Amino acid sequence: MSKQVTIIGAGLVGSLLSIYLSKQGYKVTIFERRSDMRKSSIVAGRSINLALSDRGINALEEVGIMDAIRKIAIPMHGRQLHHADGSSGYQAYGNEGQFINSVSRGELNCTLMNLAEKHEVKIHFNERCDNINWKTNEIHFTNTEKNESHVVKQDLIFGSDGAFAASRLTHQLQHDRFQYQQYYIDFGYKELTIPAGVNASFLMEKNALHIWPRGNFMLIALPNIDGSFTCTLFFPFEGNPSFASLNTPEKARAFFNEIFADASAMMPDLENEFFNNAPSSLVTVKCFPWIREDKFALIGDAAHAIVPFFGQGMNCGFEDCAVLNNLITKHDHNWNDILLEYQELRKPDGDAIAALALNNFVEMRDKVADPVFILQKKIESHFSSKHPDKWTPAYSMVTFSPKIRYSEALEKGNRQQVIMDEIMQLENISEKWHSELIENLMLEKLKQLH
Ligand SMILES: Cc1cc2nc3c(=O)[nH]c(=O)nc-3n(C[C@H](O)[C@H](O)[C@H](O)COP(=O)(O)OP(=O)(O)OC[C@H]3O[C@@H](n4cnc5c(N)ncnc54)[C@H](O)[C@@H]3O)c2cc1C
Repeated sequence: MSKQVTIIGAGLVGSLLSIYLSKQGYKVTIFERRSDMRKSSIVAGRSINLALSDRGINALEEVGIMDAIRKIAIPMHGRQLHHADGSSGYQAYGNEGQFINSVSRGELNCTLMNLAEKHEVKIHFNERCDNINWKTNEIHFTNTEKNESHVVKQDLIFGSDGAFAASRLTHQLQHDRFQYQQYYIDFGYKELTIPAGVNASFLMEKNALHIWPRGNFMLIALPNIDGSFTCTLFFPFEGNPSFASLNTPEKARAFFNEIFADASAMMPDLENEFFNNAPSSLVTVKCFPWIREDKFALIGDAAHAIVPFFGQGMNCGFEDCAVLNNLITKHDHNWNDILLEYQELRKPDGDAIAALALNNFVEMRDKVADPVFILQKKIESHFSSKHPDKWTPAYSMVTFSPKIRYSEALEKGNRQQVIMDEIMQLENISEKWHSELIENLMLEKLKQLH
């Protein structure tokens, strides 16, 4: 059995995977295209954050770094809504004690790389994977500092080089009947900042994910430990309004003043930030197969890039690593069996979270402000608190229930939605939603579905 592994990409997933593999006794080397972010000022200067939830937390706990991450995580217990008329509302994410966490992407990646190196993982930076020769198992890299090419020969290779993975492309080009689907939505995003107030104070509720739902588009904000918020505007590329139509600083500010008035008042640098970078696109990637015999597997975004609206891309990639780790033990390092079962388990889950994430865009930007939707969530939460064994709201299955697979959450959630569609049609539902009549009807409908 080969005890050496090469990983392509030291992002969030590649770094975590290296720790798991090292703990399993493998000698791991990572090749990363970028320079070492721990030595550059980019991480210190920009706070881009991510929502970390139970699936990701489980994996970080398994490798023993969740205590360190908790120190830099801000719990977000629910959504703080900022409506167009200036009013606000709050929706808890789950039951008492259930929350997601805002974590700095850079800090998390640095912590994972530090831990990887403590486990003897060797990370080479400025090393771009160009292609892989599958006949000879040779990976071709270019050192981007020296502009020199070299070849690494390895029996077991993981491609964790993100949504536009070079490892996936070369796997695809040299694989008969490789299935590939890439789907861009018509919306892009821009990251903006609400700086901290006096003495690093938070200018809005700290322990919430803020949303400005505006029907077709939305602004969101997640807190950072320095008191600032990183905001993301999810907005159409074309049309009116769109990134194309807000083409001067004056137009951008006027639009924010009108549509996101409270946020705009807290964004002194809006004009600069808005025009610093072009809007980024949002892609879903599905492909198959993810593996090549006992030699190669795609993992993380390289296998399943998804849109960010469920806050699950990284969590899903971390779960990939935890599943793979269990399979190494289960199959006693037989990589043929490990990779086959890894693909069999994770491909349907990757497809499911891709669908859930796309659906959640409509929920976040539009439905959260809709009284019918709010009532439905109230009914589900009430029923679920009385019958936790029979009903878990879809959001909770995905976010707080790692024992439920994504594919199961999608399927159960769809079945529950059929019931809720009927319940919401009932006359005077807003008056009798917490009655025994509704409870019994839901129990009856659940029985019929089984
Ligand atoms: C706007 C936005 C918000 C998001 N919010 C959340 C969230 O709240 N919660 C969540 O769970 N997920 C979120 N995600 C998704 C999350 O960012 C990804 O799922 C996660 O980063 C995937 O990790 P990865 O390691 O697979 O890929 P990446 O993080 O993309 O890392 C890939 C690594 O490979 C390197 N690389 C690329 N090409 C090469 C090459 N040719 N050779 C060598 N190295 C290479 C890259 O430099 C990088 O370091 C969000 C995504 C976006 C775009």
